[in-house]
Amino acid sequence: MDSIQLFVPTFRIEECLAEIRECLEKGWTGLGFKTVEFEEAWKNYTGLPHAHFLNSATAGLHLAVRMLREDGNWQPGDEIISTPLTFVSTNHAILYEELQPVFADVDETLCLDPGSIAERITARTRAVVYVGIGGNTGRLDEIAALCRARNLKLILDASHMSGTRYHGKHVGSEADVAIFSFQAVKNLPTADSGMICYADARLDAEARKWTWLGINKDTYTRTAAQGTYKWHYDVEHEGFKYHGNSIMAAIGLVSLKYLDQDNAYRREICNWYDELLTREPRIERVPVAPGCVSARHLYQVMVERRDEVMLALNDSKIYPGVHYRDNTTYRMYVYARGTVPHTARASDRLISLPLHLRLTHTDVQRIARTLTEIVARL
Ligand SMILES: *Cc1c(COP(=O)(O)O)cnc(C)c1O
Repeated sequence: MDSIQLFVPTFRIEECLAEIRECLEKGWTGLGFKTVEFEEAWKNYTGLPHAHFLNSATAGLHLAVRMLREDGNWQPGDEIISTPLTFVSTNHAILYEELQPVFADVDETLCLDPGSIAERITARTRAVVYVGIGGNTGRLDEIAALCRARNLKLILDASHMSGTRYHGKHVGSEADVAIFSFQAVKNLPTADSGMICYADARLDAEARKWTWLGINKDTYTRTAAQGTYKWHYDVEHEGFKYHGNSIMAAIGLVSLKYLDQDNAYRREICNWYDELLTREPRIERVPVAPGCVSARHLYQVMVERRDEVMLALNDSKIYPGVHYRDNTTYRMYVYARGTVPHTARASDRLISLPLHLRLTHTDVQRIARTLTEIVARL
């Protein structure tokens, strides 16, 4: 029997090579050219007013916190409420800026629970970092309303949400800043890259300087400029090397063309899982929030004795994943251990079943049948 992996990226190879060839022929592989084209295409696709292409979502999360901290004059030790059920990047971004992650608990969608956020707000809270797990929005509109009411910034880690629709439009405009990941196994695959989308034009403009070492004119703009002293530039402050490049943007432009089609197939796979698993009470499924058409980055279930179930699946050459371990079980967040019971429960039970574009209905049947047999036997 063939082995079935959790994620396998699909690239439209000939189209990607044609886009990359344009970069190589032009002799322009860096910032500018395809990165500009991809930013325009992403704004068109999402309807978001601003988009800046980066080398990763991790860089974007850091930049989001950095720019809001500068803008709001946040002080070291000020607090950001975040989720313990996420990839490490989300909360590292808070620590890079010497701010304090405060963990709230998740609800049944595995996204942050607005009630739990409200309980954690103090005089030092400055922002909420919200992760749309697996493409799900959870109660994002309630959280956006809560942030507005309490004068908190909302940072959306939309790494799983390329293509997610919420109340009929692409997700992202609910937040002060939304960050998307185009890492290879995400819904819009490149190799490594991401997009940061600010609501505020001023922050978007400022961020463009920060992502290229604080330099106030990029080389591409300077090359295109006529009649000015294009070799002159100024540096107003330090910055990072966080911008994306044209090779990644070239691949992104192709992947974007197929995103809706690919996500539709992901939803079909999830519907197959739902149908095949619905009658097994020992397999708990994670609901998609009302109003959300999820990009379906993940298909997650919860089972008892998860580690044994995972090993038994591996014996059948099925290799699922876990998204994620409760971050408060990591040594660095030991201070928060025991404060997030729903997350802790999920963390012990979650399995992400294989979900990628090469899976067939037969594969999904095999996975569902094998999982059902295992949970019945254990
Ligand atoms: C993948 C991921 C990131 C980081 O994305 P990169 O583009 O790899 O830096 C951040 N947050 C979440 C929830 C992710 O899944």
